[in-house]
Amino acid sequence: MAHPPEYPYRLFAPGPVPLSEGVRQALAEPMIHHRSEAFKKILRESLNLLQHVFQTRQPVMILNSVGSGAMEAALVNTLSPGDEALFIVAGKFGERWWKMGQAFGLKCFALEVPWGEAVSPETLTATLKKRPTIKAVFCQACETSTAVAQPLREIAKVIRQHAHESLFVVDAMTALGAMPIEMDEWGIDVLVAGSQKAFMLPAGISFIALSDRAWKMATKSTMPKYYFDLAAELESNTKNETRFSSSVSHIRALHTALQESFAGPKLARTIARSQVLARATREVCTQVYQLQIYPKAPSSSVSALLIPEAIQDKNLTKILLNKFNLFIGGGQDQLKGKIFRVGHLGHISDEDQLFFVQALGLALKECGWAAATDHSITQAVALTRQLLTSKE
Ligand SMILES: *Cc1c(COP(=O)(O)O)cnc(C)c1O
Repeated sequence: MAHPPEYPYRLFAPGPVPLSEGVRQALAEPMIHHRSEAFKKILRESLNLLQHVFQTRQPVMILNSVGSGAMEAALVNTLSPGDEALFIVAGKFGERWWKMGQAFGLKCFALEVPWGEAVSPETLTATLKKRPTIKAVFCQACETSTAVAQPLREIAKVIRQHAHESLFVVDAMTALGAMPIEMDEWGIDVLVAGSQKAFMLPAGISFIALSDRAWKMATKSTMPKYYFDLAAELESNTKNETRFSSSVSHIRALHTALQESFAGPKLARTIARSQVLARATREVCTQVYQLQIYPKAPSSSVSALLIPEAIQDKNLTKILLNKFNLFIGGGQDQLKGKIFRVGHLGHISDEDQLFFVQALGLALKECGWAAATDHSITQAVALTRQLLTSKE
């Protein structure tokens, strides 16, 4: 392969993700006023299209914040200081919500799940039986730090059965739009998502919707809030406005992304695309490059692969970046240097994926990993081609 500057920058992170040409153009449009009729129309259409992505009849709201702001909004709008809440902590993002709960004076319980594993419905059942007065259960749909997909439908059933009063609050930051999630059908009470992951936008806005049960709890919530007061935001949305200045450029880009990738049947196609990329990545990595998948319950948004011990000090991610201008995620905290994470989100073309498997093979070879040879790289390319064109 030739000299680095010849390669365009390729993002294979689980957020931020590569943007489409259409989204980049939308971001470059001249400014218009956020109280103009032209913008109100874009906002209304975007809010309506978001309901389809969330699979909900409830209104979806747009917040001017990164995803963590929506996580905070979910918490401060539904609960009151001293309320008991259970946090499923299976990685860094679960930990973040648990810390937030403490910062806001909730009585926090953590259901700690070993990293790399999904929560077991049995363990959750046992925990809820001990604490039937829990007001909310917080969980990630995909715990991005470990690439685990949580069994949301089963979790929802367990909560309804053993903690009738409890809300089910879900952070679907890397999952919504890349994995099937049906808010109403599955009984999710609060669902939050961010822009820079499956929604294929820059970081900066986030999305949230509440069930009837959650809105009812919201009327009783005494948690201090102002910027993230969702009842006030919803009130403004009924006039096709946001409460404060709208992030006009972001929302126009959102409108474009929704039309391009999520409207009507496109939602299912976009989810299927992530699934195909995930499968292709995992099969090539395990069957051809002889790597092991880290999580026991892999998601289709992001894959985590164990870096073989023999090459753990060789800095695979740096080689990919310096030689091939390709960014993959590393491991965080206890997984630093032990795994690498590959995103299956955003505008990743077949050519990008083929480039990735070759670059990965060459980088593994440079690290001295015996299973990465010229021959296996050729095999990896052939297998990727085959998997990208297969319908399932
Ligand atoms: C990215 C991410 C977030 C939010 O990150 P921000 O930097 O606040 O946008 C939250 N939860 C999960 C699971 C994520 O992947």
